[in-house]
Amino acid sequence: MIYFNKPHLTGKEYEYIADAVSSKKISGNGKYTQLCQQYFQNRYHFNKCLLTTSCTDALEMAAILINLQPGDEVIMPSYTFVSTANAFVLRGAKIVFADSMQDNPNMDAETIEALITPKTKAIVPVHYAGIACDMDKIMALAAKHNLFVIEDAAQAIDSYYTGNDGVKRPLGSIGNMAAFSFHETKNIISGEGGMLVINDKKFEARAEIIWEKGTNRSAFFRGEVDKYGWVDVGSSFLPSEIIAAFLYAQLEHLDAIQNKRIELWNQYMTELKPLSESGLFTLPFVPNYASNNAHMFYLMFESLQKRTLAIEHLKKNEINSVFHYLSLHSSPFYKDKHDGRDLKYSDLYSDGLLRLPMFYDLAPNDIKKIAEVFSTIEVATP
Ligand SMILES: *Cc1c(COP(=O)(O)O)cnc(C)c1O
Repeated sequence: MIYFNKPHLTGKEYEYIADAVSSKKISGNGKYTQLCQQYFQNRYHFNKCLLTTSCTDALEMAAILINLQPGDEVIMPSYTFVSTANAFVLRGAKIVFADSMQDNPNMDAETIEALITPKTKAIVPVHYAGIACDMDKIMALAAKHNLFVIEDAAQAIDSYYTGNDGVKRPLGSIGNMAAFSFHETKNIISGEGGMLVINDKKFEARAEIIWEKGTNRSAFFRGEVDKYGWVDVGSSFLPSEIIAAFLYAQLEHLDAIQNKRIELWNQYMTELKPLSESGLFTLPFVPNYASNNAHMFYLMFESLQKRTLAIEHLKKNEINSVFHYLSLHSSPFYKDKHDGRDLKYSDLYSDGLLRLPMFYDLAPNDIKKIAEVFSTIEVATP
C-alpha cells in the first residue's frame, strides 16, 4: 500500500525529548521553545515568533490581537480549512468568503475589493499547497482600506513570494501576522503544533501576554517587571518543551526535507505530464511570483465523477489518494450565514481536486507506479 502521508523522523527526536525530560523543564517556553523560535527568526527574519499548540491556536491568538468585535467582517477564501474561519467566528466576526482563482486554489485578489465594507477588519490569505497568494495586490488593498492581513501559512513553511519590487520574501513575513502548522501532515512536524509570527511590532508585547494566559509572566522572567499578574485576556497557547524538542530535531533537517520533497514533486510533474496532455487531469500551476515548497502534489479533474473514479482506481491498485476541502460557504455550519454569492471556482476545487501521496520517505519507484496506474485508468468521456 502506498500511503497518502507518513510522518518522517529525522533521528534526533527521541534524544532531544529525553534531554527536555531529564532537564526537569518540560512545561512551555524553555530551552527548545527558544531554540525553535530563534531558528525561525534568524532563518526567515521574522520579527517575533511564538510557538503554539497548533496553527488553529495561532490563528485564534491573531483574532484576539486585532481586537475583533462582534459584527466585524473578515475576508478569506472559501476553499480552506475550518480553522481559518473558526478562529474569527469565535470572536463574533462575520466571514465574507472570496472565490479561488481559475488557475490555482488561492483566493482571487481581484475579487476582494468588492467585498470590503466599513465593517471589514482583516483579510486572511491562505497560501494553499505552500504556493503564495498574490500578496502585492492584497497588501495594497489592506493599506488602502486600513485592514489587517493575517497569513494562514499553515502549509507554507520555507516558501517565498517575489513582489513587483523584485524582492523575494518568505511567506509568513508579509502580513501583520502569520500562522504556521507543524501538524504531522505538514512538511515540518511535531505531531500537533504551530507558530504565530508577529511582524507588526505593535502586537508584540500583547501577543506574549495572550500566549501566557493573560499574564505578564514572560516579562517577569526577563526581569522587566517585579511581579506578574492578570493583565489581559488570554489562554494557554504555548506547547510543552517535549513538543518543542521534537520540532527542533526536525528544524535541523529542514533543508534536507525540503530538497527531497521538491525532487519528488518534480518527478510527479515529469511522469504525469504525458497523461495531463491526454486530458485526464490538469497539473498544478505555480505563478511566477511564487516558489514551491512541495507541501502537496494535487491534480484537478473536470468533475466529481471523474475524480471519484480516479480515487477508486488508485485504491484498487493500493494507492491512497484524497480529496480536500469542501467549500466553507456551503458547509452545514455556514451556508445560512453566507450571503448567497456563487463561488464557482471554490466549488470546482471541492469537486475536482485530488491529492496524491507526498511525504519524505516516498520512493521514486512509488511515483513511477502511481503514473503507471494512472495510465491504465478508464474514465468514461461523456
Ligand atoms: C493544517 C491547516 C490548518 C490547521 O493547522 P493545525 O496545526 O492542525 O491547527 C489551518 N489552515 C490550513 C490552511 C491548514 O492547512
